[in-house]
Order: sequence, then structure tokens, then C-alpha cells
Amino acid sequence: MNIPLLDLKAQYRAIGSAIDQAVLEVLKSQQFIMGPKVQECESAIAAYSQCAHAVGVSSGTDALLLCLMAEGIGPGDEVITTPYTFFATAGAVARTGATPVFVDIDPISYNIRTSDIEARISPRTRAMIPVHLYGQMADLGPILDLAERHKLIVIEDAAQAIGAEDQGWRAGSRGHYGCFSFFPSKNLGAAGDAGMVVTQDAERAMRLQRLRVHGAHPKYYHEVIGGNFRLDAIQAAVVTVKLRHLDAWTEARQQNAARYDKFFREYGLPVADTSHPANQRRGGSSPVAPPGEGEPQIFLPKVTTDRHIFNQYVIRTARRDALREALQKCGVSTEIYYPVPMHKQQCFAYLGHQTGDFPESEAAAAESLALPIYPELIEAQARFVVQSIRECWDTLA
Ligand SMILES: *Cc1c(COP(=O)(O)O)cnc(C)c1O
Repeated sequence: MNIPLLDLKAQYRAIGSAIDQAVLEVLKSQQFIMGPKVQECESAIAAYSQCAHAVGVSSGTDALLLCLMAEGIGPGDEVITTPYTFFATAGAVARTGATPVFVDIDPISYNIRTSDIEARISPRTRAMIPVHLYGQMADLGPILDLAERHKLIVIEDAAQAIGAEDQGWRAGSRGHYGCFSFFPSKNLGAAGDAGMVVTQDAERAMRLQRLRVHGAHPKYYHEVIGGNFRLDAIQAAVVTVKLRHLDAWTEARQQNAARYDKFFREYGLPVADTSHPANQRRGGSSPVAPPGEGEPQIFLPKVTTDRHIFNQYVIRTARRDALREALQKCGVSTEIYYPVPMHKQQCFAYLGHQTGDFPESEAAAAESLALPIYPELIEAQARFVVQSIRECWDTLA
């Protein structure tokens, strides 16, 4: 059985005619830049993420960059974020001329370890970018408290977390800004690159709207320097159609996650108990097997918030590389998010970090493996994935 990591063709088979029609409407209108489709998409995303304003932009990366620009963040400033994320988070900070300052992750949630943040705040710190990794929100309560006390801006990198919830709040709705990506592999994907910034603040929304059209206000008059960061009308039309299906897709992803959890136990695989006190530590240790159990364990994702949207279902094991290879032979595609944490990227060598600086991020990079979790994945496929793991597990080094 061949199981891809993501099957966008299955999604298109289900809703293709509505997508085609939405794209055709834009073609027939010949209104490609801004206009009603972009506005419709912005209103829909604002409502969905419980925000007052939404500003369509060209990508998730540009969403992050634009928020930093809107706050005038640049050379001499520091922005706190996690080293265990997609490159864009740290890349956007560096592109403004500001310095990314990393704080290690919590090994259970893979999100920034909030208890370590305050020690990294300096007089130069201007903002924090918590990343809601894999579809589960970072612990925003303590982050927002710190922001208030130290007068910092919070930009939620919600690229993987549209519709995720924690303590009744939707991703993107509590920070000064929330950034979404509609990259095709995200839970809500466009037919190309696209993104959105949400905010509760009308003044900030206005700044973003100006910056995405070169800072022009009115047209041809520039008080500030922006860029071309617009959301394409065709992409907006596609995203608006797909948004209607997002909750059903999220439920299907959650169902698949529950199936995996069940199958791992049903097939007698050595699933680690993340509720074990040894795995609840927040003091710098990786998830470890309960004492007395020598065999390598498999750590399943732990839901620590109200609504995990499972952009990825990521397991963890010391046998990761061998397992990935064995699964590939069975026809099961997997991916490593992310093999190299940001502090070990060559382009960030100037920050002067070394191996060992962020041990949890390094351990996660060495042990994490994403399994197929897309909504159209059926029960028999999920079973086949776990069955395949069962068959090879004892032979893995
Ligand atoms: C995908 C992603 C981005 C960037 O989004 P693009 O639309 O690809 O530019 C930023 N941050 C995280 C965490 C992401 O997963």
C-alpha cells in the first residue's frame, strides 16, 4: 500500500468543482489585485479566528515580516522565538536586521518553554514570536503576562494552527498579531502561496494594509517604505471556498490522530507514558522512558490544549532514522519536521551558538517523525501505517 504524507488530489476530487468555479469567477471578472474576493476572504478568516481584522498577504513568511515591519523592528532590536520551527520564523526576524534570540522548547508540546523566556529578555527585546507547532497552541498566558510587564509585542506564528484553541481562545486572537500561512500543505491551503495577518487592533490593521502596498497612503504618497505583500485574488477565492470545509477536515485529522493512538497500543508497540512524572519535567530533560523499561519508547503526540488541529502527527523515537527508512520500504511516506534547529543553521552561525545550547530542540530534531494524518486518510491506511511499524520495530537498530 502506498500512503503519501499528504494527498491533495484526494481533497481536490472532493471539492474541485467549487474551487474551479471560484477561480473562474476571478478570471471572468479580470480583477486579480485586491477587490471583493480578497475582502471576502479577509472577513471570513477574521470571523473564523475570532479577530476584529484580517489583512490578506502574499505568504505566511510575509505575514511575519510585515508584522515586524509594522512595529518598526530592525537593527539593534531582539526578538525572542523558538529554534525548533520552520525557517521563516527566525528568517523574518533576521531579514529586518533584528536579532533572533532563541528559547528552547518544552519536550512534550514542542512549543516554546515559557519558563525560560524571562531570562532572555533584555533592554533590546522588542517582541516575542511563539510558534504554535504542528497545530497545537503554545502556552500564551505566561507569554502575554511577560509582554505586558516588559512592553513587548506578541506575534503568534499560527501558520500551522488555524482554528486551534487554548483556554477558549483561537490561534491568532490573543497576540498583537496572528500570522497564518495558506501554503498548500497547511490545513487550509491555497493553490499557491498566500497568507493572512489577523489582529484585534484597528490601528495595526491599517498599518499592515498600507505596508502591503509599498506603504502608500493615499496611492503614490509614501510616508513609510512597504513592499508588495498582497494576497492574490485567485488565492483568496480558493481559500474562501476551502474554509467552509476546514472544520470537517480538522475533525477528520483528529479522528486519525485518535486512531493512531489506539492502534499503537492495540499492536503492542512500546508507547511511552507521557503522564509519567519523568515526562512531566520542565527542567531540561527529554521525555524519558519510565525507569526500568530499557527498550526504546515511542512518544505519541500529547494534546495539552483545548483544540489541536493536527497539522502534523509527530511521534518521537530514538530509532527514528531506521524507522523512517523501513516505512519508506513499506510505501509509507513520512517527514522530519525539522532536522536542523535554527541555532545550528549555517546562516545563523553569526549568532555564535553551539551544539548543546538548546538540548530539547536538538533532541526533537533527532527523534521526531511525522506520519500521514491528512483528512482523507482512511482507517485502513492508518492501520497499515501502524502495522508496518509493528512489523519492522523489533528489527530496527
Ligand atoms: C509554513 C510556515 C511558515 C511560512 O509560511 P509560508 O506561507 O510558507 O511562507 C511560517 N512559520 C511556520 C511555523 C510554518 O509552518
